[in-house]
Amino acid sequence: CGIVGYVGHRPALDVVLNGLRRLEYRGYDSAGVAVLDGAGGLAVERKAGRLANLEELLDQVGRESFAGTAGMGHTRWATHGAPVDRNSHPHRDATGRVAVVHNGIIENFAALRAELEALGVEMSSDTDTETTAHLIAMAYAEGETSGDLAASVRAVVRRLEGAFTLVVTHADQPDLVVAARRSSPLVVGVGDGETFVASDVAAFIEHTREAVELGQDQVVVITRDGYRVTDFDGADAAAKPFTVNWDL
Ligand code: GLU
Repeated sequence: CGIVGYVGHRPALDVVLNGLRRLEYRGYDSAGVAVLDGAGGLAVERKAGRLANLEELLDQVGRESFAGTAGMGHTRWATHGAPVDRNSHPHRDATGRVAVVHNGIIENFAALRAELEALGVEMSSDTDTETTAHLIAMAYAEGETSGDLAASVRAVVRRLEGAFTLVVTHADQPDLVVAARRSSPLVVGVGDGETFVASDVAAFIEHTREAVELGQDQVVVITRDGYRVTDFDGADAAAKPFTVNWDL
């Protein structure tokens, strides 16, 4: 699938939709976006079919709640669950405060799902992805990772089997986006007062050519001022900076 995340000074919706357009070859089962409004709100829309269907939906519902300058988007290549609206990304926890987009497959999702259902969590999709939204929300809500989104994501990805890129937002953290990768692509784009994450540099090279390729089993936090990379345990880790020298 195609993934774009952004924290900067432009309207995130435009940046994300443009980026997804560049990545549409990676999946067209559905498309979705999440934008943090900076005041504790998280606006999400998603729609089965091509990106044009999502853009039509955004025109219908209105784009007012999508005025924020941080957010993310996804075009899906379905592996678990039919290509319908309810299985489209982003997926959220029950409170709607956490949103996740995902590329790849979480092999042990059935066990995680059973564990969540035993705790009374109701699933709203048939995807492997949704389990991570609930688990990250729980990690953020209590315990030693409470209030720390990157630490919450690390605690959850340590439990996942399979190949994945996850990009995560929390309504309480309007100035950052967290991403994690294992055996699935993820690059950071470093701009001036704006930072990107994407499955492919094509999503952001109209804005910056300074890129960073994440290594295996790394987590990155992006903010307007830059990025910080750690391993899944939280130790600082090195990723590979490079300059994109080709054109679209
Ligand atoms: N496994 C997830 C799903 O089926 C993500 C698929 C993708 O990479 O687009 O929804």
